[in-house]
Amino acid sequence: THGSEVKVFCRTRPTANFAQDLIEYLPDGQTVNVHLKKESRKGIVNNQLNSWSFRLDRILHDVSQEEVYNSVAHRVVLGALDGYNGTVMCFGQTGAGKTYTMTGATESYKERGIIPRALQEVFQEVEQRSDHTITVRLSFLEIYNEILLDLLSSVKESPAGPPAAMAIVDEGGAGVSVKGLSLHLVHNEEEALNLLFEGEMNRIIGAHSLNRNSSRSHCIFTVHIESHSRTLSDAKYVTSKLNLVDLAGSERLGKTGSEGQILIETMYINKSLSFLEQAILALADRRRDHVPFRQSKLTHALKDTLGGNCNTVLVANVYGEAGQIEETLSTLRFACRMKCVRTEPAVNEHVDP
Ligand code: ADP
Repeated sequence: THGSEVKVFCRTRPTANFAQDLIEYLPDGQTVNVHLKKESRKGIVNNQLNSWSFRLDRILHDVSQEEVYNSVAHRVVLGALDGYNGTVMCFGQTGAGKTYTMTGATESYKERGIIPRALQEVFQEVEQRSDHTITVRLSFLEIYNEILLDLLSSVKESPAGPPAAMAIVDEGGAGVSVKGLSLHLVHNEEEALNLLFEGEMNRIIGAHSLNRNSSRSHCIFTVHIESHSRTLSDAKYVTSKLNLVDLAGSERLGKTGSEGQILIETMYINKSLSFLEQAILALADRRRDHVPFRQSKLTHALKDTLGGNCNTVLVANVYGEAGQIEETLSTLRFACRMKCVRTEPAVNEHVDP
């Protein structure tokens, strides 16, 4: 086995008001220091500073979408084609650039994000690996207040009817799947992109019709890959899942308002992010044989792509502005707590009966 840690990146949304006195990126490209004036109940204390230092795999400050893809996702995508499960997750407060990082700006090809670039690379590899027959299926799951929603159910070829009740099914060695979630066979990049945009559209329309903000849900875009060797006679094949995840905005309760729907949403989000952290920390702790995946839909759905046999990457999206510094600090703390995790990728190999 080759051990590989969870990789954690930090990306700053470009701003004219970058708080240079509060956020300091060191020239090593890996370290960010945050400085805040010390405050007591009586106010700011003698200009003293509280400083925090965070060391991550790489700071993506003023970096193009192409470079973000290359340093964040490229390795995970190639791993998935070789049979290793992978997860790329964006995390941070609403507006910090999660969707920009994951999906990109739809109107600009140059600014397309990780998902379209991953789809392009997957199909380039499918062409190149002519000694393999590779099938690619897509699914797009949204989790809102612990409710599972299929963002591609409208694209189903089957006749309309009540949507199947969705549930996460844990098949032990065979991994986790979502019962009722539609899977779509795609043959090329264009078909795949059409489904991505259809799903994105459904995410926005669905949120709008329920009068909620689409940033309050988690979205998991999954590329399911099955690769059969054409040369090996023993009918071995490998399967893998590549999860590209846009997590719900992580803002703290005080920021969001504390009433009604928003309060409920924030509590669900905070709970699921804290369970995600607990699951990741438990995975890192070799003395623990029980990892609490079932505590939330998010961790349960990601179970077989976070654990021992996969590549996991987290992007912490932050604002660089003074007014958001508390959120930035809490995002960086979360990012750093994930850093200590070590996972050991393994190929999911099967033999046809
Ligand atoms: P989030 O998904 O975290 O709520 P968005 O991705 O929607 O945030 O970003 C908010 C706005 O900022 C969008 O208009 C987006 O285009 C812009 N933006 C975010 N990050 C960047 C970036 N790195 N470069 C250019 N624009 C960005």
